Amino acid sequence: MNPDFKKFYAHRTRLMRVSEIRTILRVIEEKGVISFAGGLPDPNLFPKKELSEIASYVIREYGNAALQYSVTRGVTLFRKSLSYFMSTKGINVPPDNILVTTGSQQALDLIARALIDPGDIIAVELPTYLAALNAFRMSEPEFIGIPIDDKGMRVDILEEKLRELSSRGKKVKMVYTVPTAQNPSGVTMSQDRRKHLLELAEQYDFLIIEDDPYSHFLFEPIEFKHLKAMDGTGRVIYLSTFSKILAPGLRIGWVAAHEDIIAILERAKQNLDLHTPTLSQYIAMEAIKRGVVERYIPIMRETYKRKRNVMLDALEDHFPPGCRWTKPVGGMFIFAYLPESIDTKEMLLKAIDAGVAYVPGRAFFVDGSGWNTMRLNFSFPSEDKIIEGVKILGRVIREELKSKGS
Ligand SMILES: *Cc1c(COP(=O)(O)O)cnc(C)c1O
Repeated sequence: MNPDFKKFYAHRTRLMRVSEIRTILRVIEEKGVISFAGGLPDPNLFPKKELSEIASYVIREYGNAALQYSVTRGVTLFRKSLSYFMSTKGINVPPDNILVTTGSQQALDLIARALIDPGDIIAVELPTYLAALNAFRMSEPEFIGIPIDDKGMRVDILEEKLRELSSRGKKVKMVYTVPTAQNPSGVTMSQDRRKHLLELAEQYDFLIIEDDPYSHFLFEPIEFKHLKAMDGTGRVIYLSTFSKILAPGLRIGWVAAHEDIIAILERAKQNLDLHTPTLSQYIAMEAIKRGVVERYIPIMRETYKRKRNVMLDALEDHFPPGCRWTKPVGGMFIFAYLPESIDTKEMLLKAIDAGVAYVPGRAFFVDGSGWNTMRLNFSFPSEDKIIEGVKILGRVIREELKSKGS
């Protein structure tokens, strides 16, 4: 008989949450339903021809370095091209203040390891990015949730909370935000609120994590500056990634921050994986150099904008009265709020039986609210499937409302 393996598990595994999304994805893959549950880019937008040419070129021309171990901080030439890439977005950070990570997800994990102690208070948006919460949870922080509206985080409410905490002798250590085309809501923080947030960071002495996977392709022209671009004192830790603008399979992300922050994150990374795959770094570097990234961004923007519009129209046509949803200015998701009598987690199995899946929203809220919300992905499904899926979902919601007698 096999031993009871669970007795060998380390205590900290109790902090490792199984991602709700990944569990759902497994079920729907087996059943072949229309899925609004994932967070996948449209694979038709991967520059496959260019990348296959680049991959073979990089191995041919730079093979000795590209296939070799490299330094933890990241390939120097690549960090130079990242520094240049960011400068085109108004963010001026020298290559030495950049750490290449194995996806942004690793940056979130490094932050948890190097900057968060049990009991530290982290403020996040309600709702916020689930995978960040799960990474941070490993270090047992306390979360406080700040509501959002169509201008992003309610920084005025954050200020109230900061004042209230401070009157009790407590302080917030960091604010985690996805300020531009937020996941899961798609909203963008207004410029006034960005300034206000930076002022609060000075006044109340906290760090800001600016997680920015989506600002490279926005569907509408919006006036804003990156928090990092306005950061006079180095309080902003900026994260970005190639997952949404090139290919998530490369697993290339990066952090731009003050050199002390970079140094401590680098120390944490060394034990994890020594360095991010060298070959992926060379491929991403060459893709920037050849203009592949810049050429594909407008194509992505147009494709996702069209899909967003198709989903918004379908929601308007098929969701019953009493439902509302965000109008994302970028990214890959719409976040929907249903009547409060509905529990979207309870409704999910019925939806999957009817042929459509979504992510129940509660996991995105740190305060236990959001039971009546759902995240809908529009980047992956085809336009036809979006219409068909929203139609089915509308029917499921109506039936659920009827069964609740409302
Ligand atoms: C997709 C996404 C990321 C990217 O994660 P990777 O590990 O780089 O693939 C990070 N943050 C948010 C908010 C995202 O939506």
